[in-house]
Amino acid sequence: MSLQNSSGSVLPVRLYGDKCLRKVSPELPRIDSDTLSFIADLIETMYAKDGVGLAAPQVGKNIRIFIVDPQWFETNTRNPLVFINPKFTSLDGVEVAEEGCLSLPDITAEVSRAKKITIDAINEKGELVRHQAEGLFSRAIQHEFDHLEGVLFVDRVSKLKQLMLKAKLKKIESLTDENGVNTDETMKDETATR
Ligand SMILES: [Zn+2]
Repeated sequence: MSLQNSSGSVLPVRLYGDKCLRKVSPELPRIDSDTLSFIADLIETMYAKDGVGLAAPQVGKNIRIFIVDPQWFETNTRNPLVFINPKFTSLDGVEVAEEGCLSLPDITAEVSRAKKITIDAINEKGELVRHQAEGLFSRAIQHEFDHLEGVLFVDRVSKLKQLMLKAKLKKIESLTDENGVNTDETMKDETATR
């Protein structure tokens, strides 16, 4: 499969309040054709929404997969990296920088993360790959990994900042339906009918 020219579909992104964003996702037992077509959808969705990364729970699938393309903003060429069942082998140093998230529209905050990381993950070909990262790449990986644990970046900001974001978060959360689903599609409807 060519990841650069994947023929995936754009999926609705789950927003704050959606139950899938708060679950700890289980490991993927095997990579089959369904997995590959899901990865193609994940990739298509990430670029359609102009994200640096996207994790499976963000499109309503609780499995341990995320994708990251740290070069997207610089080069505008597609170089998606796939992380399946990822495991950190080292986390070093501390760095604070601003983050945002496709599941938390119009919210940004400073988050403290490890500066340099090493992570092992399976890629879409089933190969075990070790990635060493720093800067935006390191931050994006740690942010996406959090999604597999049911953690959002707003959980990692100061109590004061959380208080400042409370109204915005409540507003996004209020669009969650009775089944615990909250997608950016309903957000779109909300904007359109206002
Ligand atoms: Zn995110």
